[in-house]
Amino acid sequence: MKKINLTNYKNINLELEKYNHNFKKNCKLIAVSKKQSINSILELHSLGHCDFGENYLQEGIEKIEKINSTEIIWHFIGPIQSNKSTQIATHFDWIHSVDRIKVYNKIKNHVEKINKSCNFLIQINISDEQSKNGMRYDQVDDLLLKIDKSSENMIFRGIMAIPSNTNDESKLCDEFSQMQETFQSLSKQFNTVDTLSMGMSNDYQLALKYGATMIRIGTKIFGARI
Ligand SMILES: *Cc1c(COP(=O)(O)O)cnc(C)c1O
Repeated sequence: MKKINLTNYKNINLELEKYNHNFKKNCKLIAVSKKQSINSILELHSLGHCDFGENYLQEGIEKIEKINSTEIIWHFIGPIQSNKSTQIATHFDWIHSVDRIKVYNKIKNHVEKINKSCNFLIQINISDEQSKNGMRYDQVDDLLLKIDKSSENMIFRGIMAIPSNTNDESKLCDEFSQMQETFQSLSKQFNTVDTLSMGMSNDYQLALKYGATMIRIGTKIFGARI
């Protein structure tokens, strides 16, 4: 049976502890368990880890239902098809990838109906690759004008991004720094905004330099995906 990489897991936690202490932050590690086994999730959970991220709805629901834990906080971090919005809203506590008003409205209507609270992030498309996911910076204000700021069920917590798939550090720095600026400006406008979700296995240390408050790490903890 595949084992999680305990050394990496412990080291990442130590780095976060230092970072949180030095910069008075509360940065959280989201363990990205897509394409990883339920056993791996349970193994990490037995060490006290509670935040897990999934990308694919069907796979995510299956795991959530089988594991059936009230302690685990499930984060949906994958692209959202609007006809799947209500199911995502039913099963997940956080949604990192809201990127259009249609999806926002569907999630909101559903969480209000079932009286559940949902923390959501707007996904920003920062890379110039042809990825369709995420909003451009110049579309964010328009979405924010349309959302219901008084909703007690739908809580706007901040922004998320997946940077360009590149080793060019200066390009990554530009992207993270733009995210940081946007995050700072939004947190002045909205008192619920406290989350900047960026940084994965290969770039989380850089993301921390730009103020990330959630890092999403998969392969560095769980090994290669199946
Ligand atoms: C897969 C994925 C991750 C984790 O990537 P790793 O390189 O395995 O750490 C983080 N965020 C999102 C949105 C992902 O899809």
